[in-house]
Amino acid sequence: MNFRRALMVSFLFLFLGGLMAEPNAEVRETADRLAGSVYIGPSMHTLRELTDGFGGRLSGSPAHNHAAEWAAAKFRSYGIQDVRLESFTMANGWTRGTAHGQMLSPMARTLHLESLGWSPSTPAGGVKGEVVVVEDVAPGILKAQTEKFKGKIVLLNLSKILAPGWVKVLPALEQSYPFFRNAGAVGLVFSDRDRNNVLNATSGYWGADLLPLPGAQIGMEDWQLIRRSLENGPVTVEFELQNVTPGPTEVQNVIAEIRGSQQPDEWILIGAHLDSWDYGTGAQDNGTGSVMVLEVARAIAALGQKPRRSIRFALWGGEEEGLLGSYAYTQAHLGELSKCVAVLNTDNGSGHPKGWKVESREDLKTAMQPISDSVLKDLGGGDLSLETTYDTDHGPFMLQGIPALDLWVDMKPYVEVHHKSSDTYDKVDPVDFKAGGAIVAATAWVIAQDPKPIAPHIDHAAVAQILKKAELDGLLTFVGQWKP
Ligand SMILES: [Zn+2]
Repeated sequence: MNFRRALMVSFLFLFLGGLMAEPNAEVRETADRLAGSVYIGPSMHTLRELTDGFGGRLSGSPAHNHAAEWAAAKFRSYGIQDVRLESFTMANGWTRGTAHGQMLSPMARTLHLESLGWSPSTPAGGVKGEVVVVEDVAPGILKAQTEKFKGKIVLLNLSKILAPGWVKVLPALEQSYPFFRNAGAVGLVFSDRDRNNVLNATSGYWGADLLPLPGAQIGMEDWQLIRRSLENGPVTVEFELQNVTPGPTEVQNVIAEIRGSQQPDEWILIGAHLDSWDYGTGAQDNGTGSVMVLEVARAIAALGQKPRRSIRFALWGGEEEGLLGSYAYTQAHLGELSKCVAVLNTDNGSGHPKGWKVESREDLKTAMQPISDSVLKDLGGGDLSLETTYDTDHGPFMLQGIPALDLWVDMKPYVEVHHKSSDTYDKVDPVDFKAGGAIVAATAWVIAQDPKPIAPHIDHAAVAQILKKAELDGLLTFVGQWKP
């Protein structure tokens, strides 16, 4: 190393050293105490109350509303006084009713079929038609075949359609539904992808828009049978759906706050979505994240010591329909987002924790490193990932340039049950679940106690660059959550 380079390196070290302060012994000790409190706390009991007590919690449903009231009461029971329900309006509420479907020819056979979320009901007696399979939803390709959809049931082969990545394909997919209706199709069917005709709850839209046609999903083996039968001639199916579609619906976000002692106007936010799909009981998506937020609140409230900055806790609604609750919150609180120092989100289930995803922010990774090394590593989650995703509620805060962290865990236990009827309490590993909560608690405390913000807010141009690199800008502009 030559002299000039050595000098530069030492200056760089001094400069970064200022940013990369290790938390002091007292802060570290309190962070460890909070982590310990989460480990010995009632996480599993609280999760059981939530999942077995309320079941699936579709946004705006009675189950979700009751769970929101229960969560508000939980925060109050921890001694937190500032607890409120903040509502936003979702374009449409939706309640699942009955669904039946069958193949009529070339063979009579009941199909493993349920309604797509936010599908309207069929007319009484259902819809019936020959199946037309679609594997590419590019507008030009569909338009050239307009005639072929009249009176038909359009079966969308989602594995093929989404192969280039859902982020790229979603706009064309959403635009295909009104096209099929206008071309005279009578129904839509999505093919599922898991063995044993297991269904993964889903809807056709980002946002709570109603499908313009009745839409169902069928199991993978049923879809394969239809596909093979089509090689020999026409296949006719029918299905009947009865759902409740009440129109615009109020949805609750639950917000609680512990006021800071020294910099109370500055706040960090710890959030997770409380809503879920309805096949299972929303245990790992996202009962575990919701309970981590509750547990961190309980542990901090029980400390007997106020944090330096305010800590806000949020349990969102509308996540499964497109991060609607967290997005609505950023819009309703635009005027105070400059005081939001960091957002910690948890929504990846109860797999063994790894650490945090920092959403492409090299500066945030650098700032987090000493916290990871001195506190989180010993809790079993000291890694940091630069991966950028817009699949959960840190996203809308990231768009505002706020340092946004998403808890990073082993995704295997989550993926196995994601949106399925098996997403239930019994799949949750108590130790890994509590380890995740402990990491959220310790991280929150260290960030809340540091007199300096963990990292600066970045401007619109810098956010745009991150989105462009992650190829998210087109989708987010299309769904109206980003203005380039
Ligand atoms: Zn989720």
